[in-house]
Amino acid sequence: MAPPPNPDVEIYLAVLKHLPDAVVVVDQAGHPLFSNPAATALLPGSIAGLGGHGHGTYQLLDSHDRPLTLPELPLQRVLAGQPFQHEELLLAVNASPHRRWVAVSGVPLQGLGEAAALITVRDISAMKQREANLLIQAFHDPLTGLPNRHLFMDRLSHALTRAQDASQGHRQGHPQDSMALLFIDLDRFKVINDTLGHPVGDALLVEVATRLQTQVGAEMTPARLGDDEFAVLVEDMATSFTAIDLAEQICAAIRQPFFLKQQEIYIEASIGIALGLSTYQSAEDWLRDADTAMYQMKDSPDQRWHVFDSSHQVQQDLRLQTEIDLRHALGRGELRLHYQPIVTLSTQEICGFEALVRWQHPTRGLLPPGEFIDIAETTGLIIPLGQWVLAEACRQMQAWTAAYPAMANFTISVNMSSRQFSQPSLVEKIQQILAETGFAANHLKIEITEGVLIKNSETIIGVLEQIKAMGIMLVVDDFGTGYSSLSYLHRFPFDCLKIDRCFIENADQDFEKLEILQSVVRLAWNLGLEVVAEGIETPRHYAQLKALRCELGQGYLFSRPLAPEAVEGMMTEKMAPLLKPTPAT
Ligand code: C2E
Ligand code: MG
Ligand code: MG
Repeated sequence: MAPPPNPDVEIYLAVLKHLPDAVVVVDQAGHPLFSNPAATALLPGSIAGLGGHGHGTYQLLDSHDRPLTLPELPLQRVLAGQPFQHEELLLAVNASPHRRWVAVSGVPLQGLGEAAALITVRDISAMKQREANLLIQAFHDPLTGLPNRHLFMDRLSHALTRAQDASQGHRQGHPQDSMALLFIDLDRFKVINDTLGHPVGDALLVEVATRLQTQVGAEMTPARLGDDEFAVLVEDMATSFTAIDLAEQICAAIRQPFFLKQQEIYIEASIGIALGLSTYQSAEDWLRDADTAMYQMKDSPDQRWHVFDSSHQVQQDLRLQTEIDLRHALGRGELRLHYQPIVTLSTQEICGFEALVRWQHPTRGLLPPGEFIDIAETTGLIIPLGQWVLAEACRQMQAWTAAYPAMANFTISVNMSSRQFSQPSLVEKIQQILAETGFAANHLKIEITEGVLIKNSETIIGVLEQIKAMGIMLVVDDFGTGYSSLSYLHRFPFDCLKIDRCFIENADQDFEKLEILQSVVRLAWNLGLEVVAEGIETPRHYAQLKALRCELGQGYLFSRPLAPEAVEGMMTEKMAPLLKPTPAT
């Protein structure tokens, strides 16, 4: 009687038959003793591809696509006494372009007769594909499919490390010149997105990405950093001109019209370029410089790219340092006022001064206002600074008028920035300063530039009228440099018009300038305004202005702005006309 079937063996056989993993058992010589149906399907032909006997129709490769050598093949390793678990390899079936990912394990078998080793091969292609998709999602922009910021920063870091290694290893060539980072920004993208809608905006970005990809070579990495910002990392450039050529090509490609959803769209790119210096400490620094380069770009329609200039960074650092120092300057009493005489042109006698602020910087010396006024304006420090200037000018003038009778009717002109007009309590502050110093309001002139009037003119008119009601005179400074027309002069309660020195500078050579000067003086007369000419530097300027019957003037010909001690020195001498003898015309 036949022995009853061993239920265990039947179960094992059924399991092996239905198991999706390939299972192969070999003898000590590498001959197959057993293989399940999955093995026949996955490893067509024979087990030669695993390192056994016969002619294989497939090959095992490592993750770099390199075929394994004989001793590296699974069967050879197990039989040589080196078992292994779940090694991920590629399986290439001859004549098929597709590769499968497989996980191969090899264990030795003992005490099972001829059986010497067991090899299992699992098809993990689907899992690998899912992994790859996840990687793509994590490191790529879902809209354009380009590498995202995360992956791009990683590539930058690697490129920097390679450049640093190369320069330390004294390899030939100049690695710092051979890499560049292009930061690309689309001009007007936001407008298109807002007006034509996000679907059009998205389609445009996809199209831009496609054009970008057609411009970049294999040694370059394009990326989308966010919104309408793209970037390209260029490695192994021959010269830095490669980066510039590429920037030109990208601009030209993006400048071509886009046809999206029945619309014709035009857009321009601006490109900041930072060469990859091996001195960069981080990818962030490198990217920041490329970004900065874009802002350094001149507003030129022909050139849409700019190479980062490190001296600009130095300037920014200086600006930041100035801002920090300026915050202390007020408290430490480092500000000074210099006084430039204003002269009655017909008599050459001084009739007043313009107060001009200076900063006695602890390490940089005496700084002119050009070095700090606009920083004070952007930071808001102009409010306390302006208040100090007004208070100090009034205090000083009050002291001088008491000490020097000749100065009794002198006026003092004080400059005010537009930002000062935004403080709600300006009028009260001025009143308070006049009250505290005892200086007469009708000897004070406040100079404002045309720019002040352009912004917020309705509110400004109200403030100016209150100031004027106090008896203070109002002067338009740098007249002719703003872009407003003469028409606004009617609307504002000015007393005086100060012609910018650019009109005086060349009036003796430039006939057009002279004509303008003439008509400005005439206009001022018609409006009943006093005229001051600034920047009188030569006897010719002086003669010309006098001929035009301009009343007042200031300039280096008469005097530069003076420190208070110099004013006092001048006042103790006899109050003589400043020019002796009268200059020739
Ligand atoms: P501004 O009010 O037009 O002052 C006249 C500027 O021209 C002064 O420069 C003065 O030194 C210069 N200047 C005078 N005569 C001549 C000349 O014959 N030739 C040339 N080339 N220049 C001449 P500064 O002192 O450097 O002041 C520059 C600007 O800074 C002033 O222009 C004014 O806008 C601003 N500023 C000065 N002090 C203050 C202040 O206390 N507050 C505010 N907000 N701005 C001030
Ligand atoms: Mg002025
Ligand atoms: Mg001026």
